[in-house]
Amino acid sequence: MKKIHNYVDGDTFSISKNELSVEDPSTGEAIAKVVLSSKDDFEKILDSSRKSQIEWAKTTPLKRSRILSNYKTLIEKNIDELAEIVSREHGKTLADAKGSVTRGLEVVEFACGIPHLLKGEFSQNVGTNIDSWSIRQPLGVCAGITPFNFPAMVPMWMYPISIACGNSFILKPSEKDPSCSIRLAELFTEAGLPNGVFNVIQGDKEVVDLILENEKISSVSFVGSTPVAKYIYEQSAKFGKRVQALGGAKNHLVIMPDANLDQAVDGIIGAGYGSAGERCMAISVAVAVGDIGDELVQKVQSEAQKLKVAPWTNMESDMGPVITKEHKDKIENYISTGVKEGAKLIEDGRNYKIQGYENGYFIGPTLFDNVTKDMQIYKEEIFGPVVSVVRAKDYDEALNLVNDHQYGNGTSIYTSDGEISRHFTTNAKIGMVGVNVPIPVPMAFHSFGGWKQSLFGDHSVHGMEGIHFYSKLKTVTSRWPKSIQSGPEFVLPTN
Ligand code: NAD
Repeated sequence: MKKIHNYVDGDTFSISKNELSVEDPSTGEAIAKVVLSSKDDFEKILDSSRKSQIEWAKTTPLKRSRILSNYKTLIEKNIDELAEIVSREHGKTLADAKGSVTRGLEVVEFACGIPHLLKGEFSQNVGTNIDSWSIRQPLGVCAGITPFNFPAMVPMWMYPISIACGNSFILKPSEKDPSCSIRLAELFTEAGLPNGVFNVIQGDKEVVDLILENEKISSVSFVGSTPVAKYIYEQSAKFGKRVQALGGAKNHLVIMPDANLDQAVDGIIGAGYGSAGERCMAISVAVAVGDIGDELVQKVQSEAQKLKVAPWTNMESDMGPVITKEHKDKIENYISTGVKEGAKLIEDGRNYKIQGYENGYFIGPTLFDNVTKDMQIYKEEIFGPVVSVVRAKDYDEALNLVNDHQYGNGTSIYTSDGEISRHFTTNAKIGMVGVNVPIPVPMAFHSFGGWKQSLFGDHSVHGMEGIHFYSKLKTVTSRWPKSIQSGPEFVLPTN
């Protein structure tokens, strides 16, 4: 069976003999084993990352940009292979997987601009014959710990920018779909990145703790569930690291009575059930404002019934399985809880069976109506293909729902009223807000991150926030005494 190792100094290796099965979620069968690294693996990787960083920081930003540009070309050339690797272990459709690699690629494109992005500021004559300027310098060795749901894109939110800034980077990918990290690292080596600047360590909590507690690692970027994000944030701070920790979500889509209902329904179907709801920007709550609830529920139900649930190898699939048997059970338990709590189950995705894939982790599109804010299925992140419709009498009630929720990752409003839209974008206590778009995911040159329980730390990822997170600001104030007694006076030239 295929074994997935660590990646260090441009090659695969592992010392630890501990391993974990990686499953195909469509069949439930083990398709590979991934090493669970030990302290020995960690120390070898850290040593490589430290040595390579010293040399890498000396390269010019222009040289780094050229290597990133080669990397971009190689990812484009190999995008079909990368998408297949993602789909095989994650289970999402090929179109979804390819789309996610493309979003990651856009961060590489952004990072190619590093000579411009790292430019500092300069002020002449802040005092008599005194100049002042600021520069941004690398942090050292940076680490990233990433979730299962985007095995290419989420790591690519981090390492291209960190490496562009002159750091080395250690990636700890999810143990559930670890293969993509190795292919991404191999391509970077092929692009000309010196050995050791991008290393990958496989493993679980044991390796994460080694990263958090080691004083030689300067920063930690984390994306995953909220309880773990909080733990990463607290531990990183305790050990003096710079940290950004992105957590879970419960994204609301508000549908006003004047909305284009068909567009809103399209949005709910794509953003609610795409990737089997395993996206941090998935829409899991649809807030029907005024009297549009009945029509909305009927239309969403009718479109949900048309979705084809199938393995990624079926090119007609709209939605694949969820990641593991445990996660399938957890989602199905939430559906049962919703029924017990009194929500109206319109579409029930439990016990979904596909011929030939009876052991796969499939759940059909599930729709609840009349969900209320005191219900567990409303308060907690389900992270599956379950959409809850909540009825709100007016806009104010809808906005309060959005703002009172513990999570603050994304939200969107469908309306044709400019004033409402402006009020919503200004007053929503949420990190990423959309108007008449289902998933308000910012582009690579803007920054991505939530509020409240969806992000711990001061910086979002990518865009200028990424540049600032992965570099230290230094401000220099300088005066040079006259070297020649009778030297020229300092005079600014004029025309
Ligand atoms: P997870 O928190 O279980 O795991 C994320 C990473 O943390 C993995 O690499 C895992 O090995 C490690 N980890 C798990 N438990 C740990 C522990 N106790 N101590 C230390 N490390 C631990 O998350 P997941 O199930 O892989 O991913 C799904 C979650 O990620 C969802 O909650 C989703 O909303 C969130 N997510 C958020 C964003 C965002 O941008 N906010 C993006 C993608 C996913």
